Amino acid sequence: MSFPSWLSQLYRGLSRPIRRTTQPIWGSLYRSLVQSSQRRNPEFSSFAVRTNTCGELRSSHLGQEVTLCGWIQYRRQNTFLVLRDFHGLVQVVIPQDESAASVRKILCEAPVESVVQVSGTVISRPAGQENPKMPTGEIEIKVKTAELLNACKKLPFEIKDFMKKTEALRLQYRYLDLRSFQMQYNLRLRSQMVMKMREYLCNLHGFVDIETPTLFKRTPGGAKEFLVPSREPGKFYSLPQSPQQFKQLLMVGGLDRYFQVARCYRDEGSRPDRQPEFTQIDIEMSFVDQTGIQSLIEGLLQYSWPNDKDPVVVPFPTVTFTEALATYGTDKPDTRFGMKIIDISDVFRNTEIGFLQDVLSKPHGTVKAICIPEGAEILPVFLNANRNWNSPVASFIMESQRLELIRLMDTQEEDVVLLTAGEHNKACSLLGKLRLECADLLETRGMVLRDPTLFSFLWVVDFPLFLPKEENPRELESAHHPFTAPHPSDIHLLYTEPKKARSQHYDLVLNGNEIGGGSIRIHNAELQRYILATLLKEDVKMLSHLLQALDYGAPPHGGIALGLDRLICLVTGSPSIRDVIAFPKSFRGHDLMSNAPDSIPSEELKPYHIRVSWPTDSKAERAH
Ligand code: ASP
Repeated sequence: MSFPSWLSQLYRGLSRPIRRTTQPIWGSLYRSLVQSSQRRNPEFSSFAVRTNTCGELRSSHLGQEVTLCGWIQYRRQNTFLVLRDFHGLVQVVIPQDESAASVRKILCEAPVESVVQVSGTVISRPAGQENPKMPTGEIEIKVKTAELLNACKKLPFEIKDFMKKTEALRLQYRYLDLRSFQMQYNLRLRSQMVMKMREYLCNLHGFVDIETPTLFKRTPGGAKEFLVPSREPGKFYSLPQSPQQFKQLLMVGGLDRYFQVARCYRDEGSRPDRQPEFTQIDIEMSFVDQTGIQSLIEGLLQYSWPNDKDPVVVPFPTVTFTEALATYGTDKPDTRFGMKIIDISDVFRNTEIGFLQDVLSKPHGTVKAICIPEGAEILPVFLNANRNWNSPVASFIMESQRLELIRLMDTQEEDVVLLTAGEHNKACSLLGKLRLECADLLETRGMVLRDPTLFSFLWVVDFPLFLPKEENPRELESAHHPFTAPHPSDIHLLYTEPKKARSQHYDLVLNGNEIGGGSIRIHNAELQRYILATLLKEDVKMLSHLLQALDYGAPPHGGIALGLDRLICLVTGSPSIRDVIAFPKSFRGHDLMSNAPDSIPSEELKPYHIRVSWPTDSKAERAH
């Protein structure tokens, strides 16, 4: 019997995935569900009318009377029907004899994706008709009774064509999209990982799972927040961008190990692969230092990591923010491949090349380069390793400089060296972007730079406490958030050169994505007030509750938050975080299924003392 290609691929086992997309199988999903439940196998059919799941029947069940419920995957020549549930597929034989005419009618007429209940006996398939690709391929069901539980209309898309439908259509009919193997796998794996995280935090390490409010007030700094109107004129709640203040207040309250699977909200407009509401594994601890939090997170990820992936190796390597920028041109380096940035300023100290001379004469002027292995494949060559350098400046490069460059960059034939000159940070971040672009280009040409089965974790530490504000670079803003403690050896700098102070902020990076961040907090009210009022020029009245709390015996504390959606997206190798969220918003923040956000009749806005001021160009919308 022939299978739809997506399923037959999945049945082949969890082979090493090709490029970014993992191709797990129903069996592996089942295995990870079973293994992660430490005490015994979960009962997938308890409390239900079915006796078994579609995917679990084997030769060992021969002769058993079973009741199955599922969706009609497809039908062949009115003789067989394949029934599906989350667990897998099973073949049902459509009875041909006259006495079973009513059963035959139901099974032959129900459209594909209708949901049916069948009862019958597990029998072996006739010799030669076994399907080794199908876990249930040795058996089939000889039906006695059948019931059409609900018929399915003509579908807007075929469930099995996961990759072929547009995302807008998938989001519009999300409940159908969720029937696909990929979405089932992603959401079930997510549930498993969260369950193991809870187990690790609460049962093994005494954390307390505490819910914090989502109706709160505006907090200074950080991301833009969503407003929620209240019935008091001109007063609004805000949806918190994270439970930051509450988790610190819990520490003051003596709940010294807090965690929450927390929903967070950020009104950041449309940004690719961000969601206006998303989930964090939010953690806070008292009497802890940076290494304590790092070890906790390493243990947490190791414990909750899916069984069907390569195990997580701890401890994770650490780089400082300064090293990350100098070596990879970013604070979230993808360390699965090399192509590191190298400072080649010294090679060109006596150069005759005008633009290099110019840059090197400036205070922070540098010349930097990256070597693209086999880059000649993808780029018009700038500097080539062989004798005939293909570059407009090649004739101005002296032999000694050329040799030194080849030595420093370890250049081979067919490699390309990309060189940039400028201020240190700018030069590095430009090369950092080129490094990723080149990796993408090389991979489109078939070179494997980033092994898709590799999970490369990295701690980035020693961030600056402040950065220049984007809108006004003379003012400061917190690099993380205003509650982050300064590095102990840099406290004096707060009063002299705050821009130079480092912080106790750490980020966790996975394959070039920031998947978590946290810090040791300020627990001294005076220092917190100084940073907020004097350095960040924030209105401290808005945070008077927190400042007051710090004065009542606040313990030293610190924490972290992991971005759950992004983590699961990377673990499952999904192309977008929307693929690991059951009901995500579109790129523009809309729910395409229900059409949220939606307009409200002005009558209903009255209790909130709100009137819409319609932009002039949206008259049509208003009429609608
Ligand atoms: N609340 C912080 C954030 O959302 C994380 C932390 O500092 O614990 O980034």
